[in-house]
Amino acid sequence: MFAQPLERRLEILADSAKYDVSCSSSGSSRKGTPGGVGGTAASGICHSWTADGRCVSLLKILLTNSCIYDCAYCVNRSSNDIPRAALTPDELVRLTMEFYRRNYIEGLFLSTGVARSPDWTMEQLILVVRKLREDERFNGYIHLKVVPGADPLLVAQAGSYADRVSINMELPSQRSLALLAPDKPQELLLTPMRQMSELIAASRLAAKESPKAPQFAPAGQSTQLIVGATPEQDREIITLSEGLYSRLGLKRVYYSAFVPGSTDRRLPELPTPPLLREHRLYQADWLLRFYGFRADELLDDAHPNLDPRLDPKSDWALRHLENFPVEVNQAGYDTLLRVPGIGVRSAKRIVAARRETRLGEAELKRLGVVLKRARHFLTAGGRHLGGPKFYVDRVARLLMAGGEGERLKQLDLFSGGADLSMLTGEL
Ligand code: SF4
Repeated sequence: MFAQPLERRLEILADSAKYDVSCSSSGSSRKGTPGGVGGTAASGICHSWTADGRCVSLLKILLTNSCIYDCAYCVNRSSNDIPRAALTPDELVRLTMEFYRRNYIEGLFLSTGVARSPDWTMEQLILVVRKLREDERFNGYIHLKVVPGADPLLVAQAGSYADRVSINMELPSQRSLALLAPDKPQELLLTPMRQMSELIAASRLAAKESPKAPQFAPAGQSTQLIVGATPEQDREIITLSEGLYSRLGLKRVYYSAFVPGSTDRRLPELPTPPLLREHRLYQADWLLRFYGFRADELLDDAHPNLDPRLDPKSDWALRHLENFPVEVNQAGYDTLLRVPGIGVRSAKRIVAARRETRLGEAELKRLGVVLKRARHFLTAGGRHLGGPKFYVDRVARLLMAGGEGERLKQLDLFSGGADLSMLTGEL
């Protein structure tokens, strides 16, 4: 694995890492130190996105793509006949520093297959980040994968060097993990996630007492779920995400459309990755995190899956017309946020502006509120902005017409065309 030239190993290991989308670099603000190198805030870490939504501002690489496990959906599974490679911790440190100094990257996203054992692999990862922080005095962003099954002491060490830590759950249920990743029962994933959640909370508390308190993963933890490889409905996925946010305090859950290609008979035969479904899940996730929706409001027994033709907020609104129309001069901030087409910024502007004046259609337009969708659900001074009559079918047709669903159907995973709002799910 070490016999090939470094460039070739780099190529193999960077390619093997591209299926992990959980590499957003937000949430950390450590400054550069005198004599140190880099910094998360001072160097202005920002996101660059490839057309398939992968973050490119970090050196995104695996320690090794060899793995003792055989998860059916994973390109690095032990039974897959692919070129294998590994980097030594020293090589990884050198590469990171050279790339950083040449301004190619702003940080490191380091993941790995499980070589030899979870503990041995975790020790190698820790060696890399310890050398970067202590020997090289590297202050740039580090997102480190934690190896499920590694000793809790190693997990605690990992987060003391990394900005963000993550364990990918990959599959949303224990039954799917048992089928496709039998070496990784859900408890093996959840136990270190709970430990990290507690360490993050304790570290935040300690930071309030003293800015010099040791930190644990100041940018929090994230995870990734594969969409479409197993039969779970969107309701199950979104309910799981809701629990991960509320109970474990996760910073982000990423959704990755299953990329077909394996001949494993346990996997579905999909013609293309389910990108539109992935996009709808990001939108629903956004509603959970920023708009005060609960998972059981968005999806229920009668509607277990997100509608591919409509964004989740419009879909919810059309199924809950008893809440509409909303009077724009009176509705509270939380109520405005539930109007399709009104986002956080517009809701804040409306609340601020109506302290000074009564709002009509012209004033809303001046505030920059986009009324294309919102007008069907709003009154201003008692006048319905969508016209004299509200016909559900007509409004549903208008909301669907020319919608992003049509555009996203055309998207190919590795082609251009996706803008950032499509990828983040902002509504
Ligand atoms: S443990 Fe990770 S790297 Fe190994 S096969 Fe499973 S998903 Fe792939």
